[in-house]
Amino acid sequence: QLPDPALEILKDRLSSVKYKILVLSGKGGVGKSTFTSLLARVLASENEQKNIGVLDVDICGPSLPLVFGVQDENIHQSGSGWSPVFIEENLSVMSVGFLLESKDDAVIWRGPKKNAMIKQFLTEVDWGDTLDYLIVDTPPGTSDEHLSLVQFLKSTHNFSAVVVTTPQEVSLLDVRKELDFARKVGLPVLGVVENMASFVCPKCKVTSEIFPKNTGGAAQMALEMGVPFLGSVPLDPSLGRCCDEGINFVQKHAGSPTVLAIKRIVENL
Ligand code: ADP
Repeated sequence: QLPDPALEILKDRLSSVKYKILVLSGKGGVGKSTFTSLLARVLASENEQKNIGVLDVDICGPSLPLVFGVQDENIHQSGSGWSPVFIEENLSVMSVGFLLESKDDAVIWRGPKKNAMIKQFLTEVDWGDTLDYLIVDTPPGTSDEHLSLVQFLKSTHNFSAVVVTTPQEVSLLDVRKELDFARKVGLPVLGVVENMASFVCPKCKVTSEIFPKNTGGAAQMALEMGVPFLGSVPLDPSLGRCCDEGINFVQKHAGSPTVLAIKRIVENL
């Protein structure tokens, strides 16, 4: 149980955040961090008056500094806490990646140290103006990090999750476990996002399905599990490139099927 003073600080800092969204996935490599960054970029560009904070607690594999193109930035400590790195005027990010000496350093921490780090992120990051959205990128699966986040954030309002999956059965199987976890800990699920079910040809721009539809994909699974299906994001080679190079895909490819798909997902949230 968190000692009261820390919980009070946490409530103070985060209770006024209008939406706190954990981005979950059953497996690694399904596009959870990519989706987190796209969601944040779309929210920030469509709502200039709103402030978006992104917290990367994928402690063993923090990739958001790279995806946002800020991997050489350091965070600063001030009297009011840690200052996150600002990507845009209304979009800031905090990641364990900023605390590592070198981006190739491995983080090998046991559960209690991870929990302490998460508590510190939640209580000591000074997001500046009140956040409208706090989007939290988590490690794959359900581990110490998820339990800590739920334990700490449950006492604040407007706390929910989005689950990202690919359409293959191996990934869907793990999503069912993720949804079961959410149910057991009382975490509301906004819905499921399917990534990389289709492919946008860079030449002719035609979208084709990649996997056979024998399982019905994520939409069918969401239906069976009684959670909303939020939409499908195509596999788009230019998205992969932009993420590797830290380029703002949402701005560069504003009218692309991928950006339109994210916008539809935001409308469904
Ligand atoms: P996770 O956070 O689930 O481990 P990532 O977001 O890091 O997965 O994505 C894994 C890889 O797949 C990255 O190289 C990323 O650029 C790429 N990727 C993810 N989604 C897409 C997509 N829709 N189109 C193209 N590449 C993608």
